[in-house]
Amino acid sequence: MSGHHELLAGWGNTAPSMAEVVRPRTEAEVALALSSGPIIARGLGRSYGDPAQCAGGTVLLNRGLWHLSPIDLASGTITVGAGVSLDEILRVSVAAGYFVAVTPGTRQVTVGGAIAADIHGKNHHLDGSFMNHVVSFRLATPLGEVTVTKESDPGLFWATGGAMGLTGVVLEATLALMPIESSWVSVDTERFENLDGVMDAMATGDADYRYSVAWVDCMTEGPRMGRAVLTRGDHAPRSALEGRSARHPLEPPAAPLLSVPLTPPSGLLNRLSISAFNEAWFRKAPKKADGELHSLSSFFHPLDGVDRWNRMHGPRGFLQYQFVVDDAHGEVVRTAIERLSSNKVPSFLAVLKRFGPGNPGPLSFPLEGWTLALDIPVGPPQLPAVLDQLDEIVSEAGGRLYLAKDSRLSPEMFATMYPRAADLMDVARRVDPEGRLSSDLSRRIGLTD
Ligand SMILES: Cc1cc2nc3c(=O)[nH]c(=O)nc-3n(C[C@H](O)[C@H](O)[C@H](O)COP(=O)(O)OP(=O)(O)OC[C@H]3O[C@@H](n4cnc5c(N)ncnc54)[C@H](O)[C@@H]3O)c2cc1C
Repeated sequence: MSGHHELLAGWGNTAPSMAEVVRPRTEAEVALALSSGPIIARGLGRSYGDPAQCAGGTVLLNRGLWHLSPIDLASGTITVGAGVSLDEILRVSVAAGYFVAVTPGTRQVTVGGAIAADIHGKNHHLDGSFMNHVVSFRLATPLGEVTVTKESDPGLFWATGGAMGLTGVVLEATLALMPIESSWVSVDTERFENLDGVMDAMATGDADYRYSVAWVDCMTEGPRMGRAVLTRGDHAPRSALEGRSARHPLEPPAAPLLSVPLTPPSGLLNRLSISAFNEAWFRKAPKKADGELHSLSSFFHPLDGVDRWNRMHGPRGFLQYQFVVDDAHGEVVRTAIERLSSNKVPSFLAVLKRFGPGNPGPLSFPLEGWTLALDIPVGPPQLPAVLDQLDEIVSEAGGRLYLAKDSRLSPEMFATMYPRAADLMDVARRVDPEGRLSSDLSRRIGLTD
């Protein structure tokens, strides 16, 4: 099975690189591809930086590993190929009354990518991350194929969640789904004029909601710094739809309404347009509204309404800076927003969430506390220095950056933020003794040669 050489980039389009791209359709073809390296798997390329790239090596596209079993109604589980996207699962499962227990801000990620990053959603404080709902997975490694459960090999199970592809190629996984009575979410919305207000409300009230997320405006300063719209909710029971006959109780997620057809040469997003967008978003939210019904798409994946929206950032691309700090260091959230606004770094609405405890995996990202994710266009000359300073502040607070979003972390900073990285490599070497699995990310942060 030979592939073509292609230029690949992450969602932020910051560091494209050339690799031979192979598209295995069978497990035998995956095994063949793993007989030499360097090689790394790739899903739908929704990671922002370079974890699904392998300059000069091979990138194995997982989309050919596509099969969907019927939902096992007795156990509420589904077995799918690693190339199936969460969108494709939801198209089948919602009609049957099941939701994917952890979904990120986009449905356009594959099960392989979701496991490799151990993705989190708006319910981490209650339900943990993706691996907490994985019953088992089959993994192709350079030493052969293995079925992994928490019981059969806890080291390999938990390390694979967060390993960003370095323990092998996930072929298939069995996932525990979440039963739902309707495809609607009952949502309470509240607008806050500043950051203290929203953080206080989240710290004291999030435990009462399954889902919680705050959209924070990072371009305001002074008393309105960090003004935010907080939305919290849970799957609506069937009874909440009574009298609203137009609403189908179990509607699949909506397809994108628009698409950005090409990358505009200078990008459409700058300080002015981002500021205007943030203002409009804040104004359109109700000051306070309780129990409104939102569709799954509008509550969980609003950005999926516009296909390839990342192109709006232009050819220079953009990065996402997502960090986590524990509850004792919540002030780092304020410092980060202050640094960006005082240094005139434009940032789209930032996403603030609460996390519960992380998983045992050596590269597990979550920590019980706060996570803030900021979308920032590449370009402002002051940006690299501002982010380097933020790295120092986050790491001094015992926090870390999310590798699925990262595109710029140094090896030294990675080692400080992830002190158990050597444990990951011990597990990886057990299944990949020659070190064939490697990516642009793993080389950049010093995990592999
Ligand atoms: C708009 C947007 C919102 C997002 N919101 C969130 C969020 O709320 N929470 C969150 O956690 N993440 C979020 N993400 C990040 C995204 O969930 C992760 O980056 C996810 O890993 C992407 O999956 P993918 O299929 O696109 O994988 P890719 O980006 O292609 O690859 C990601 C990693 O998975 C590995 N991989 C892929 N397939 C396999 C396989 N079969 N076996 C082993 N390794 C594999 C790759 O090697 C790579 O290291 C968001 C991304 C976008 C673009």
